Amino acid sequence: MKKNIAILGSTGSIGSQTLDVVRQHPDRFGVALLTANNNADLLVAQALEFHPADVVICNEGKYNAVRYALEHTATRVHAGMSAVCDLVTGEGVDIVVAAMVGFSGLRPTLAAIGAGKPIALANKETLVAAGSVVMGLAKARGVDILPVDSEHSAIFQCLLGAGENRPAKIHLTASGGPFRTWDRDRIAGATREAALRHPNWNMGAKITIDSATMMNKGFEVIEARWLFDLGAEQIHVVVHPESVIHSMVEFADGAVIAQLGCPDMRQPIQLALSYPERLPLSNRKLDFASIGALSFEEPDGEKFPCLPLAFEALRRGGNVPAALNAANEAAVAAFLAGRIGFYDISDLVAECIRDVEFMAEPDLDGIFATHEAVFARAQERIRRW
Ligand code: MG
Repeated sequence: MKKNIAILGSTGSIGSQTLDVVRQHPDRFGVALLTANNNADLLVAQALEFHPADVVICNEGKYNAVRYALEHTATRVHAGMSAVCDLVTGEGVDIVVAAMVGFSGLRPTLAAIGAGKPIALANKETLVAAGSVVMGLAKARGVDILPVDSEHSAIFQCLLGAGENRPAKIHLTASGGPFRTWDRDRIAGATREAALRHPNWNMGAKITIDSATMMNKGFEVIEARWLFDLGAEQIHVVVHPESVIHSMVEFADGAVIAQLGCPDMRQPIQLALSYPERLPLSNRKLDFASIGALSFEEPDGEKFPCLPLAFEALRRGGNVPAALNAANEAAVAAFLAGRIGFYDISDLVAECIRDVEFMAEPDLDGIFATHEAVFARAQERIRRW
């Protein structure tokens, strides 16, 4: 049976690679809905190739350009975030790929879960900021959350054969990013361009900076807590520069199951779409002899303070992870704009999670209130930086 996909954030890195998976399996996957924030030209090109029933351009200023370009097609054109939340619940949608950037992915993802749609989750801020709300709603609605992030997909794949056995521990692998071998002084002067040069993965700007600070790994730790119902002490991060092992599960008897592959996001994306079936994929396959050796090291929390900050947020719980995410979102935008330095990102995040007004069990309103308050406060601090 053909699955019709809604791709939220179709012009980003995950969105484009999702469409590449669709291109490889036109008999299995169709496109129901494409949404983009700003990139009108690519959205139009994608719509002309994949013929979705609907497209949404979130930036309302670009609505007319998209509408004219698709005037003679059957695709309906909409603008604004409320259209995304509305259309994602539509009858023609079988599965939703949540690949928007940042906190903005939360509302449409909740709308889709509320409508009972399975979610292929790539937007990690959703679970970081609102893990208990999102997982609570998914459970209540009986909705599957299928991880797209390579590490969580790896854990998910390692657990497929585990039956009732729960993991004792998981090991999330981290490439270490572009500054793994740099010392702290050199990292302190790192430019935006250097931070955007990731050694193994080709991704969007926000997540590439998050990888350079290792906040991305911190977010993945918090995500793993929610996806696999683990305690902070059960989640271990190990630096593995080759990015061949995508993560590992350790059981009570010390046995470790790992999932390996060439770094290519299309594998986890495709599995989330085709699960429980595995489909062929024309990607590069592993050549073990040419890899030769795999290496591992402890992450360095002095050089990459965002990782311990994320663990701290996870342990404190409540709305602290939402504050962590909001402060980081503001700080990364400021770093990308050339307004603050590399270590100002972690300094700002540390201040914001220290000062947040604590809520032990925030509901959705509490999470939105935390996000807005912390984001505004972080921006205020950046203005005075
Ligand atoms: Mg990842």
